[in-house]
Amino acid sequence: MTSVVWFKRDLRTRDHAPLATAASLGEPVIPLYVIEDEYWQLPDTSGRQWAFIRDSLNDLDRQLRQAGNQLLVVRGSVVDTLKQIQAHQGINRIFCHQETGGHWTFERDKAVIGWCSENQVEFREWNQFGVVRRLRDRDIWDRAWTELMRQPVLDKPVALPKSDSGQALFTGGGSRDPVLPDPCPDRQIGGSARGEKLLASFLDRRCVGYQYNISSPNTAVRACSRLSPHIAYGTVSLREIYQEAKATGNHRNTLPRKKKSLTSFRSRLHWHCHFIQKLEDEPELEFRAMHREMEVLKTGPNDSERLQRWQEGQTGWPLVDASMRALNHTGWINFRMRAMLMAIASYQLWLHWRDPALHLARLFTDFEPGIHYSQAQMQSGLTGINALRIYNPVLQSQKLDPDGEFIRRWIPELAGVPGEMIHTPWLMTPTQRERYGGNTYIPPICDHEQAARVARKAIGDFRKQHVSQAETDRVLLQHGSRKGPVQKRPSLPSKQQSDQLSLFD
Ligand SMILES: Cc1cc2nc3c(=O)[nH]c(=O)nc-3n(C[C@H](O)[C@H](O)[C@H](O)COP(=O)(O)OP(=O)(O)OC[C@H]3O[C@@H](n4cnc5c(N)ncnc54)[C@H](O)[C@@H]3O)c2cc1C
Repeated sequence: MTSVVWFKRDLRTRDHAPLATAASLGEPVIPLYVIEDEYWQLPDTSGRQWAFIRDSLNDLDRQLRQAGNQLLVVRGSVVDTLKQIQAHQGINRIFCHQETGGHWTFERDKAVIGWCSENQVEFREWNQFGVVRRLRDRDIWDRAWTELMRQPVLDKPVALPKSDSGQALFTGGGSRDPVLPDPCPDRQIGGSARGEKLLASFLDRRCVGYQYNISSPNTAVRACSRLSPHIAYGTVSLREIYQEAKATGNHRNTLPRKKKSLTSFRSRLHWHCHFIQKLEDEPELEFRAMHREMEVLKTGPNDSERLQRWQEGQTGWPLVDASMRALNHTGWINFRMRAMLMAIASYQLWLHWRDPALHLARLFTDFEPGIHYSQAQMQSGLTGINALRIYNPVLQSQKLDPDGEFIRRWIPELAGVPGEMIHTPWLMTPTQRERYGGNTYIPPICDHEQAARVARKAIGDFRKQHVSQAETDRVLLQHGSRKGPVQKRPSLPSKQQSDQLSLFD
């Protein structure tokens, strides 16, 4: 009797229900990870994401060896791999975590389930996030999330009986990198050991002042938990993070400021699942606007020069370019800068949301489809139920990087320009340029204020002519967050009111 524990975005041994259940049976276990070439051809995948997974697989193998087993890593399709294992020694059951990914992983999961059912192999999935499959009533979601987060964190299995032939079956296989390397010099390193360390340093010291320091790109690097890639690839469980944050926050010696920070942090863990639930409920969000009538707001291909300048950090707006270049170099940027990058692409540059969303997805080491596609659309005004957030790149820059420290770090062309001029280098006089440099920095693509006005009007006109209350209500009912007591359905707002509502609060 052999159990296969199929690892996907859950690369850990602690708080891993499929592994703990397999271990409890006392029978041979094959811990399996499949490198799927087809997946790595998708337009939202990248070398930096794979590099993080590769680190995490090495660390997972180390953890499994401590329990007397090892990770079987195979390159190919999951169904073909299962067939080979089956032919060689037989499989009785496959245990794994439920995944809410894009269309491709959903179809892959269906194929695996189909194969199991044809071959009388038990297939069992557990939920690691508060995302509910076939959710019938959005009003019960909060309660389900809280219940899952309160369940006890499972220990690592101490002993995992090894199957004699599982590992011997697939040795060699040449290069294991399924995707071209993607230079990202300051990428975060994967693996549970790193994730646990980050969690400890965040709860111990870094979280103090969290809610005040997460917006500026200067302070966010340290003030944010930086746990996102670890949550995305499951090297640390969300439940463990939630419970440890709660315990630290509730400790009697914890200062009020730190308590507040941790409450704010915990609410973001809730948003994590709240956003993924949207993709679970409406998988089409990967490809088209949440508010279906808004999809045709922009037609035709994107202006390729604008898209390219945005992608290369060459828009001529310093904070925007510095953010893109920092992201390219590190694989991470804070929420506010992500939102600004996406909004600038969608409003001032008037690009269709999908090309910029795919580009950002590839740059994020922490790419999480459910959060990413929902957020990309929200920052592009495509949900129909959120206020439009059109960022002014100069005001953001003056507010969040007043001395230009972040800009100077990432835009060497502006290294000598003083703080008061760095936000609008195009306004420098020839004498100032002579003195401070900045001549090699590109002028802005367009007048951002004028472009923002045009975008706002175009969206307003489109909404008046093409957007129905019925579709707005559908989006709100299906995806809007629920305030107040659980079970109480919110009364639907009018179209004007709904524009003010936020999907997350
Ligand atoms: C256009 C856009 C795309 C995004 N794409 C992703 C993505 O692919 N993967 C991803 O993990 N996050 C994404 N986010 C959300 C957010 O920016 C990141 O989760 C956060 O910056 C990660 O850093 P952190 O772990 O230090 O965050 P912290 O502030 O320490 O938050 C802890 C965790 O809470 C969750 N979280 C925080 N903010 C949000 C949010 N606004 N919405 C949903 N969950 C949140 C994340 O899991 C995060 O790791 C995106 C935001 C925008 C605007």
